[in-house]
Amino acid sequence: MSNVEIKYTKLFINNQWVDAVSKKTFPTINPQDESVIVKVAEGDKADIDIAVQAAKKAFQRYTEWRTLDASQRGRLLFKLADLMERDVTYLSELETLDCGKPVKQAYGEIIWAASIVRYYAGKADKILGNTIPADGEVLTFTLKEPVGVCGQILPWNYPIPMFIWKIAPALAAGCTIVVKPAEQTPLTALAMAALVKEAGFPPGVVNVVPGYGPTAGAALTHHPDVDKVAFTGSTEVGRIIMKGASAANLKRITLELGGKSPLVVFNDADVEKAADIAHRAAFANAGQCCVAGSRTYVQSGIYDKFVAKAAEIAKKRSVGNPYEDVQQGPQIDPEMFNKVMGYIEVGKKSARCVAGGNRHGNKGFFIEPTVFADVTDDMKISNEEIFGPVQSIHKFETFEEVVDRANNSNYGLGAGVVTNDVNIALAFVRHVRAGSVWVNTYEHVTAQTPFGGFKESGIGRELGEDGILQYLEIKTVTLSLPKKPLL
Ligand code: NAP
Ligand code: MG
Repeated sequence: MSNVEIKYTKLFINNQWVDAVSKKTFPTINPQDESVIVKVAEGDKADIDIAVQAAKKAFQRYTEWRTLDASQRGRLLFKLADLMERDVTYLSELETLDCGKPVKQAYGEIIWAASIVRYYAGKADKILGNTIPADGEVLTFTLKEPVGVCGQILPWNYPIPMFIWKIAPALAAGCTIVVKPAEQTPLTALAMAALVKEAGFPPGVVNVVPGYGPTAGAALTHHPDVDKVAFTGSTEVGRIIMKGASAANLKRITLELGGKSPLVVFNDADVEKAADIAHRAAFANAGQCCVAGSRTYVQSGIYDKFVAKAAEIAKKRSVGNPYEDVQQGPQIDPEMFNKVMGYIEVGKKSARCVAGGNRHGNKGFFIEPTVFADVTDDMKISNEEIFGPVQSIHKFETFEEVVDRANNSNYGLGAGVVTNDVNIALAFVRHVRAGSVWVNTYEHVTAQTPFGGFKESGIGRELGEDGILQYLEIKTVTLSLPKKPLL
């Protein structure tokens, strides 16, 4: 157990730490032992309004932020990345306390998030327009300008990376921001806010308002002075956000939503390697991963061997105290724990459980890594996002069959294929409908790689060049040119 110090529990608005207008607070829970860690200021509509006004003021013309050279925006971001690395041990212990992920994993995620900050730091002064050969006696060019005030609503599964995926491109673009972290994991968002201030960002550029979705989140979505909302979370809430954003003022939106991603293993694959890739795809972050490869499809020639291997690896997966050297900590909260256990009970009645299937221990929200074999596409565990440590293995015969089955989902976030045949791999890449496709690997996501979903997995992309475009408006400028020589 860590004695990590909790330094920040108030709202962060205009570079100040303030109580909620209502003076209300809410508890954040340690998922390892179900204890209350601390109470955090609970922002709602009134606080969102104050934060949005701060962000709006910082975005007005001639402010410190709007007159800053683009290269200096980059410099502030480089500084933020350095501070994250300076504090990586503290931040990772705090992350583990609030969301239960293994501390080693949290450490790696923060180093990864810092690399994303640096990527966008470098982009800040490379936001280029075009010169366009328009018809007529004109000179036409485009400017890419910041969208404006951005509301950013975060999930709890990767709190620091999600905070960075949202703020880094927005800041590089020159936007100002109000962040609402998930109610389960407010602590590292506040610790990151302190680093934003230390890095030297002017007041009002980044504001962080913890609170609940239907109050603080909805206020941000509906606010007439917010120009864009970026959201990561469930498809269900994504629909609510899209509706609210359109009703209020037709905000720009980026939605990163759920998934039920297929990973397909062909007969020619090395069974051990394939089982390992599939295991990591399904169980990363205790299965609490939007792009989890939770539908494993295995060709009949290697099916039995694969199932045995998958069960063996799952049984060996270490689960327990996330401050120790384990692969899996607890699920985030009682709701998710009960939801996942409910799916496992349903799975036991329909498919063949070959590993796990129970709660792990009797305190905290730990679940045994669970593998179901002989899963068919009509089963609930094959169709619905479980968001827990559950792998569902399906058998298939032909390429055509498996591509259709892989695509037979309302989601389209990720997909994987394991094969040594380049023709099979490329045909799969071509026909599968998903925002990211991995061949002989899975969930390889870096600062440079655009990430997002087809179909109900989302709208827009984060990361890479495409990620910053979502925070820019294009302004087309056309000048009439003199028709006759001037001299
Ligand atoms: P969630 O319930 O959709 O919550 C996400 C965020 O939205 C939270 O901050 C939540 O606030 C807020 N919210 C809830 N209702 C809202 C409303 N009416 N208006 C505005 N904001 C609202 O999802 P979750 O429980 O965090 O995560 C589980 C789901 O998210 C899974 O389905 C998973 O696939 C998806 N997810 C997707 C990605 C991705 O990158 N595509 C990443 C992570 C998770 P509260 O704090 O009150 O809940
Ligand atoms: Mg918590």
